[in-house]
Amino acid sequence: MEELVGNTLAQKTNIWADSLANQASATPKANATFIFLARNSELKAVVESIQYMEDRFNKKFQYPYVFLNDEPFTDEFKEWTSQMVSSKAEYGIIPREHWQQPDWIDEERAKAGRDKMVDENIIYGGMSSYPEIMGLNILGSVSYRNMCRFNSGYFFRHPLILPYRWYWRIEPGVRFYCDLGYDPFLSMEDNNQVYGFNIALYELEETIPTLWKATKEFISKHPQYVASGNAMGFLSEDGGRTYNLCHFWSNFEIADMEFWRGEAYTAYFDWLESKGGFYYERWGDAPVHSIAASLFLRKEQLRFFDEIGYKHESFQHCPSGDRHKQGRCSCSPKDAFDWD
Ligand code: GDP
Ligand code: MN
Repeated sequence: MEELVGNTLAQKTNIWADSLANQASATPKANATFIFLARNSELKAVVESIQYMEDRFNKKFQYPYVFLNDEPFTDEFKEWTSQMVSSKAEYGIIPREHWQQPDWIDEERAKAGRDKMVDENIIYGGMSSYPEIMGLNILGSVSYRNMCRFNSGYFFRHPLILPYRWYWRIEPGVRFYCDLGYDPFLSMEDNNQVYGFNIALYELEETIPTLWKATKEFISKHPQYVASGNAMGFLSEDGGRTYNLCHFWSNFEIADMEFWRGEAYTAYFDWLESKGGFYYERWGDAPVHSIAASLFLRKEQLRFFDEIGYKHESFQHCPSGDRHKQGRCSCSPKDAFDWD
């Protein structure tokens, strides 16, 4: 009897050791990395995001992480996060020109824009409850604008990111609820897709009063960049006259940086940058990315990752049916934001 138990245990141990060995020998197949922009103060929430990502996906796939910050990461940050990941972790500082408000921005005008946004939101009780849900100060903050501009036009030019083609963006305090058994980068590559999303919602109109006007000016100057078979229908109910504020929520993104580094997006970003709207208003990287992906790509090049259960702040996506079962998801489809 004792022998039997011993054998069984030994067998179990072997099976366990084998599967661990298999995992450790997995090498990433796509030229891809996680991109994790974060502050030192968010360390605990960063570690939690990594735990979900490792458990549900990366312990099998072993893609590297690049952590970026406008300030140097602390030793504590580097030690704890690198002990959490199953793969390589690198830590980069963002160059000042990619982060700070440029000198040519008229600070007086920018400040007036920030104050107006805050005041109007207080006076009218908020156009929606969204700023409250998303945390205070996102309307009047300069650093939030730096972040939005960086994520719109600069992250893919960082020296640590340049060697990579594909990325998966992660934020502090997010959750991944389902096992992902396949490689999303390879899957997108195989399907000729470029931009992957998980949740879509409405932008706050007061943050982008002239973004659509600037976009229409760009399109009339460069009609060649607008793809035939694009997803304008996602952005507009009237054939492009007005923007319906729909956007992909960019805290989750799996995408091909060749698109951001390419001719159309480079010209579009430069045009938006020249307008100063990242500072005079509060143009977000979510509507900027979404508009570009919807206009300069064909519809089929967008990928909805239904099988990835995901939560950021109070909004979440959770698959149902077979996908919920296959992913052993710990979210409830009833809580998914999709149906709101
Ligand atoms: P929200 O998701 O729109 O509420 O914005 P967050 O506050 O979550 O910021 C989005 C991402 O940018 C997160 O990964 C943050 O950690 C990061 N972030 C925002 N502001 C700063 C900043 O001033 N410095 C750094 N290093 N990261 C920032
Ligand atoms: Mn966030």
